[in-house]
Amino acid sequence: MSDTRHTKLLIIGSGPAGYTAGVYAARAMLNPLLVQGMEPGGQLTTTTEVENYPGFTEVQGPELMVKMEEHARAMGCEVVMDLITDLNLSDRPFRARGDSGTEYTADAVVLATGARAKYLGLPSEDKFKGFGVSACATCDGFFYRGREVVVIGGGNTAVEEALFLTNFATKVTLIHRRDSLRSEKILQDRLFKNPKIEVIWNHTVEEVLGTEAPLGVTGTRIRNVHTGEERTIACDGFFVAIGHAPASELVADQLELHHGGYVKVIAGSTRTSIEGVFAAGDLTDHIYRQAVTSAGMGCMAALDAERWLSGQE
Ligand code: FAD
Ligand code: NAP
Repeated sequence: MSDTRHTKLLIIGSGPAGYTAGVYAARAMLNPLLVQGMEPGGQLTTTTEVENYPGFTEVQGPELMVKMEEHARAMGCEVVMDLITDLNLSDRPFRARGDSGTEYTADAVVLATGARAKYLGLPSEDKFKGFGVSACATCDGFFYRGREVVVIGGGNTAVEEALFLTNFATKVTLIHRRDSLRSEKILQDRLFKNPKIEVIWNHTVEEVLGTEAPLGVTGTRIRNVHTGEERTIACDGFFVAIGHAPASELVADQLELHHGGYVKVIAGSTRTSIEGVFAAGDLTDHIYRQAVTSAGMGCMAALDAERWLSGQE
């Protein structure tokens, strides 16, 4: 059954940006409605320890996000489990269609849809997705108890995933296309000290190898970027950790984007190219992409929306 809900402020996304916008907008008496999407709590629900969110020396990612949701709800933000499948920003009130059939109309919108894991784009990678190929060690690491895995990438995510996977796997091989990592030094230090981890530098992945029946990964063919020499590494799990791309499909043909799909905001604010539409968090940020910066932008978006809405009255 379809119904229509009107709200002054619709917040799309339930990561640190969305929930923080929810806290501030509720306290500004905007009665915000927040739609959670496919991943309630956002990217931090796919990790374990978070050690750089102020106020918590160490907190589990999923636990931090439950606390943020509770905080938003306690302040009066309505949190709805739905997925926005269509968003029309051409007229006001703005209109959003939920997967549930609900149509949401809103005087103002905060976009906080964050980012999603990137894949290498190899046909063999696609073939084994869910059958040995994964982009989430926290979700799938458990299946590799007593087995060997590879992790592809050289950023914070790749290093954290490699370290986490040593809790289950007998051996973790990190394969990186350059000869240095871009992850934080403290993480690199832990990586290099871990006896279960081997790093293979200057190699790219050519193919994920596996069996047909049952479908499953058995190895990967990699190539030295300097010599062109190829070799095979045996593994049961293939974890891709090469970064994230902004989830801007809903607004790609409506808002100004830049840097490969990030929503462009007016510097020093969260205002987008359409009045009344604000954007926060990883969706707009190709530089910092941290939980605390996303939360900060969520706060800014709620304050910007409040100011804009009161100017409309
Ligand atoms: P996200 O957390 O990406 O949340 C996006 C939200 O939008 C999700 O709830 C999703 O369901 C929703 N959504 C998307 N599309 C729709 C739609 N169509 N309709 C409705 N909702 C939708 N940062 C740190 O500061 N410290 C760390 O230790 C750390 N560890 C990390 C570990 C991993 C494995 C990863 C992947 C990231 C890590 N980060 C860390 C980065 C941090 O998670 C992100 O910067 C932060 O989560 C971004 O917050 P966000 O609110 O912008 O978006
Ligand atoms: P990232 O920092 O963008 O790193 C991506 C890595 O993947 C880089 O090393 C890159 O190689 C490699 N890569 C990209 N495309 C590739 C390809 N096609 N083939 C092979 N390798 C490829 O992404 P991230 O590690 O996911 O981090 C994203 C953001 O989240 C960052 O801002 C990060 O700080 C944050 N984060 C923070 C924490 C934390 O604070 N503890 C944890 C996780 C994530 P090059 O180095 O050669 O470019």
